[in-house]
Amino acid sequence: MHCLMCGSFSLLHICKTCQIEELEPSLYITYIDDVKVLSFYTYDKIKILLHTKHTDIGYYILNILASIAMKKFAMNFEYTSKIAVVGIDDHNGHGYSHTAILVKFLKSKVLIPHFNILRSQSTYSYSSKTVKQRESNPRNFIYHDIKLNEIILIDDIITTGKTLQEAMLLLKQNNKKVLFCVTLAKAKL
Ligand SMILES: [Zn+2]
Repeated sequence: MHCLMCGSFSLLHICKTCQIEELEPSLYITYIDDVKVLSFYTYDKIKILLHTKHTDIGYYILNILASIAMKKFAMNFEYTSKIAVVGIDDHNGHGYSHTAILVKFLKSKVLIPHFNILRSQSTYSYSSKTVKQRESNPRNFIYHDIKLNEIILIDDIITTGKTLQEAMLLLKQNNKKVLFCVTLAKAKL
C-alpha cells in the first residue's frame, strides 16, 4: 500500500517517517470554565486523516494517531492516585468509536480506561453546524456510575467545547471531579 501522507510505498497506512516527522504531537491548551483542555494536533493538520473516519482504513488511522499522541502522554503522566479515563459517547453503534480508541491508549498505572460511561441520547450530528445549532441540540448523556472519583474526560475534537461542558456538568452533579480534558485535535469554528 501507499502512505496516506507522502504517497511512498509503505507497509503501514502512514509510513514510519511521516509518523515521526509529520505527526509529532504538540500541546495546545484551552479552557472550559476553569478546566484545562489539552489537545495534541490542530484539526487542520490531521484533517485529511480524520476524514478516513467512515472508510475502511479509518480504524487503522485512528489507532496510529492515538498510539502516537495518547500513548506518549500516558507514559509521561504522573499522579498520586488512580484516575478514571472516560470517553465522550464511546459506543460502537456504527462500527467503531473514535473516543474508545483514544481511551484505550490512555492507560498506565494511574490512568484506568473506562468504557460506555457517557452515552449520548441525541443522534444529531454536530459536524459543520453553527454554535447556535450546537447549543440548541444538547447531547443528553446517560451516565453509568463508576467507583473512581477523579476523571479525565476524552473527546476526539474540541470545537466549541459545548459537548465537554455538558458532560462535565453531569459528572459534577454525580459528585465526580474532572481533573482536565484531553482531545486529539483542536478545531477552529
Ligand atoms: Zn509517509
